[in-house]
Amino acid sequence: MGPKGAFGARIASATVRPLAFTDIPHAWAFSQLQRFLEYKALAKGIPVIYVDAHNTSRTCPRRGHCKEANRVSQALFRCLRCGFQHHADLVTSINQPRRLGE
Ligand SMILES: [Zn+2]
Repeated sequence: MGPKGAFGARIASATVRPLAFTDIPHAWAFSQLQRFLEYKALAKGIPVIYVDAHNTSRTCPRRGHCKEANRVSQALFRCLRCGFQHHADLVTSINQPRRLGE
């Protein structure tokens, strides 16, 4: 991948990736953002529900195989068991709503 491709990947990652606690350097900033999002969502009648995001980027959305090595890189997920492969952020965004039913 040339420099242009790498740059594009960084842009995609920065715009698509769900916000994680580690994305914000100060806990107070995260808390402030959380309150702001809650306020805006509730003002529109949108319920705010929190889910545990632990291992959601390491778990295969097909059959639930969870392994640290499934996360090949910051951007890439590849299931060691079934070979399912996609952007790790997409995998997380599939897995997180499923936690609502757990
Ligand atoms: Zn799999």
